Amino acid sequence: MQPRHPLVPPPVPGVALVIVGGGAAGCLAALAVVRQTGGRVRPVVVDPAAQPGEGVAYGLGCDRHHLLNVPAGGMSLTSAQPEDFLAWARAHGARLGWPEAAEAVAGDYLPRRLYGAYVRQRVQEALAAGAICHRRTVATALRRCGGLWRVSLGDGGELVAPAVVLALGNQPPRMPVVDDPDGVLTGPLCRRDPWDPQAPPLPDGPVLLVGSGLSMVDWALRLGGDSTRGAPVHAVSRRGLLPHRRGTARPAPALFTPDDAAAGLVTLMRRLKEACRAEGADWRAVIDGLRPVTADLWARLPTAERRRFLRHAETLWNVHRHRMPDASADAIDLLRQAGLLSVHAGRIAAVRRLGDARAAVTLALRDGGEATLAVAAIINCTGADGHPARMASPLVRQCLADGLLAADACGLGFAAEADGTLHDGGGQPQAGLFGLGVMLRGTLYECTAVPDLRAQAETLAERLAPALTTLEALP
Ligand SMILES: Cc1cc2nc3c(=O)[nH]c(=O)nc-3n(C[C@H](O)[C@H](O)[C@H](O)COP(=O)(O)OP(=O)(O)OC[C@H]3O[C@@H](n4cnc5c(N)ncnc54)[C@H](O)[C@@H]3O)c2cc1C
Repeated sequence: MQPRHPLVPPPVPGVALVIVGGGAAGCLAALAVVRQTGGRVRPVVVDPAAQPGEGVAYGLGCDRHHLLNVPAGGMSLTSAQPEDFLAWARAHGARLGWPEAAEAVAGDYLPRRLYGAYVRQRVQEALAAGAICHRRTVATALRRCGGLWRVSLGDGGELVAPAVVLALGNQPPRMPVVDDPDGVLTGPLCRRDPWDPQAPPLPDGPVLLVGSGLSMVDWALRLGGDSTRGAPVHAVSRRGLLPHRRGTARPAPALFTPDDAAAGLVTLMRRLKEACRAEGADWRAVIDGLRPVTADLWARLPTAERRRFLRHAETLWNVHRHRMPDASADAIDLLRQAGLLSVHAGRIAAVRRLGDARAAVTLALRDGGEATLAVAAIINCTGADGHPARMASPLVRQCLADGLLAADACGLGFAAEADGTLHDGGGQPQAGLFGLGVMLRGTLYECTAVPDLRAQAETLAERLAPALTTLEALP
């Protein structure tokens, strides 16, 4: 398959493909291009990490006991070898401190750090073989010049290539706007980025987790599993709903086809609800069965309907679709039963400082009334904020200012074609500039889990390979 827009040959000596971001998405793309081109194209991955691959989800930022929320059989880096991760985990798990991995089966939820080690090793092999190249720095600016892309780097260098993939990944969550006259939420008592591996250890004392999704679950398990801590953990979200447990249901045949989007959101949701409640049905199988058509359904919903979904249905969708492994759900249940984790439905109404080491957080509860908690730390677990205008990245700011990128209509990420080609500020697709992963949420909606990233990366590699190999063959 040819790219929709022709690529311009690179200057000589040239780089054919620059991938900005070396998390799982960027590395999946690099490896897919190498496979697809038989090693004739050597992508350059730009990422400040010493070793690309882990990103925020699978590196030191995660706790030893944090589990993948996708079974091992779905986490291979290549769809051609779906058992690659499983086989690797069986062979190497014990040596790395997870002896139980030796007996793992495809349906198991293995530790995220073990997965990080797998990705690191596969990327390391490709680096050692010279199949991909890692430039350890950040990309600070992007400019178009004569059909090529010029990427400025934080180390003072520059890369020029006909194709650039932006795989910028998860951005820290947005802090809720609350009455905070003492600046607690912008001070040291508040951790605004829940995934920051450089953050100092938390002080002793009660902790408030803002949000009740999978990031909250991560933190509750981490704090609850720390035997040196005995203080309670609180979580607050508008509805106080936690992700459901994964269960063992196999996805049912898809309930809708993309054409059903024409029926409108309300009809779709009603049919979904009925199917989930039908006698003998397993709602997990019904929800999981929608996965293959989610992106197409989303693409065909009018913008107003997408916004309506985000306003009224997204929270419910998330807790049913993005579920926690049963072992994590069991651990969360135990923490709640022991009174170590309390989940509140409501919102933060106000925050005040209580001396240097505590904050008083007033919650306006959903069922009326208020509760005030004295906490030693607040952690923002409300999920990645994809709106480009709120991103601190100098690269993103420059691209927005220069009209090279634009937010999508719902503000979930960047405007793009379904194949990942990014739009400029005027809504035009740009030859040779692609997005990958979470930045395409506005276009694909569900595009952040490894199986989705792998599919996007492989499709992109398939599209780019013919043009890139022709360019590489140039003198
Ligand atoms: C805590 C957590 C747990 C998760 N668990 C799972 C799971 O169990 N299973 C699953 O399938 N999915 C999971 N996910 C989804 C996850 O988003 C993806 O699996 C994957 O990690 C996303 O990879 P990414 O490369 O898109 O993003 P990231 O991991 O965020 O990586 C992006 C990279 O880009 C780099 N970067 C950004 N800007 C620049 C720049 N200007 N120049 C150079 N480099 C730059 C960053 O430094 C970073 O290394 C999880 C996500 C989170 C946040």
